Amino acid sequence: MNQQELEKVKEKALEEHIPIIMDDTLEVMEQYLTNMKPKRILEIGTAVGYSAMCFTTFLAEDGRIDTIEREEERVKQAKENIKKVGVEDKICIYEGDAVEILPTFNQKYDVVFIDAAKGKYPFFLKQALRMIEPNGIIFADNILYKGYVLSDYNKHKQRTAVRNLREYIKEVSQNPNLETEILEVGDGLAISKIKNKVVPVL
Ligand code: SAH
Ligand code: MG
Repeated sequence: MNQQELEKVKEKALEEHIPIIMDDTLEVMEQYLTNMKPKRILEIGTAVGYSAMCFTTFLAEDGRIDTIEREEERVKQAKENIKKVGVEDKICIYEGDAVEILPTFNQKYDVVFIDAAKGKYPFFLKQALRMIEPNGIIFADNILYKGYVLSDYNKHKQRTAVRNLREYIKEVSQNPNLETEILEVGDGLAISKIKNKVVPVL
């Protein structure tokens, strides 16, 4: 991987205000993924490919990342970036709305990274739960959305997003098969580990 090119992608994205993963968020994910060596990662929200390219360093040798992006221009940029950085054999981009694409997927993933339309997080969670491996982890970025999610804020045009992020937190917290932490790194990161099913002793 060409680290210098990756750095250029990051700088350009920051200049253009493309909301790429923040350094501290990536550091936390690194702690979870370094030992895990995932074979398959699903990312919802590619933008220009920055986070997906960063995640390639965590992959098992034959690992792969599937990532979904609906904006044509971003898909184009992401493909160019991925080539320049030299990780095109590890990342597969699907162009279109994740709401339509996800239900057509049937493979299993060790890791799901949710980083797209905030109003769709509960739907993305359902899809992630359907495809996650028994020892997998589901991450959701921007889960605290500038602090709105934990405040009494509800009068903004973004209230649908806030309501759905709160719904996501409620669902992962109440799901007995998940062990969830919500961290205040970056714009907020939800980490939900799948618990191994406990066999009840009769
Ligand atoms: N993961 C990237 C940043 C993603 S920004 C990184 O850290 O580098 C969120 C992206 O999700 C945007 O590019 C937006 O176009 C895309 N997006 C939002 N809603 C989507 C949807 N329903 N389906 C597919 N892509 C979506
Ligand atoms: Mg994000």
